[in-house]
Amino acid sequence: MVLFQAKTMIQYENIFKPPMMSLFVISACNLQCPECIMMNQMNLHASYQMSIEEIEKLIYYSERSGYCFNYRYTGGEPLYWKHLKEGTRLLRNSKSCKSILLMTNAMKYENLTEEIVEMLDYIRISQYTYNEQAMKIVKNKYHNKTRIVDREEFYPNPNSPFENATPVECGNLEHLYFQGKIYACPHSYSLALKHNLTHLELGEEIKDNFLNRNCEIREGHIEICKLCLGNKKVRDQIDKTKNISPYHEKLLVQLTKKINPVKTMKLI
Ligand code: SF4
Repeated sequence: MVLFQAKTMIQYENIFKPPMMSLFVISACNLQCPECIMMNQMNLHASYQMSIEEIEKLIYYSERSGYCFNYRYTGGEPLYWKHLKEGTRLLRNSKSCKSILLMTNAMKYENLTEEIVEMLDYIRISQYTYNEQAMKIVKNKYHNKTRIVDREEFYPNPNSPFENATPVECGNLEHLYFQGKIYACPHSYSLALKHNLTHLELGEEIKDNFLNRNCEIREGHIEICKLCLGNKKVRDQIDKTKNISPYHEKLLVQLTKKINPVKTMKLI
């Protein structure tokens, strides 16, 4: 049974106001876009799914600390998260919840039930060349709650730091919750893994008043910010490229097969 019903709909712009908390709920993703900034975290913790105990812990310490968040689900692809319904129900009924945003490619839309959507504030779909059908289905069904963001082109992740990228202009003011730990920002752990910077302090185990040292921790990982697309000064120095995921390539092969099976056999 759903206990919570949103009385008035929060405005879309307001869900991007701090404090924001990203929940990295699952590593698995059906697309595996090569330029995904979370790729290193996803690869190292490939079988990770956030547990109900982790959600309860987040709620417990957030409520005790008097925090109220705009929550968002990230990953990986949150529609594969096995606790999507129960986790959302717990968050929705918590005093720590201002809003919940689902970030998705929508391709596993059959997992998005009406009961779940009722508890969400918004569904933000990343638009690629190959999820048009799924987008339409979700958009038609949940018109008021769905927003689409063009992701057909990506900024490629830099391989080395930009020295002229400070003072940092970070566009990602949210914190990240993952494995019972609060990270000062959503990208630092994945980038630290990629660039061997895990010796830097990136976050803390969740506890009372867990945001107290957040600014200090962010300031301490400036070397990561010089590599991060969340930093406007890095992004301004990079050109976007077409996003081609292995899924996309597979589709192209299937298409070619239909048109010219003999030729495609050679391709494979
Ligand atoms: S690494 Fe730096 S620029 Fe990137 S999201 Fe974190 S704080 Fe922002």
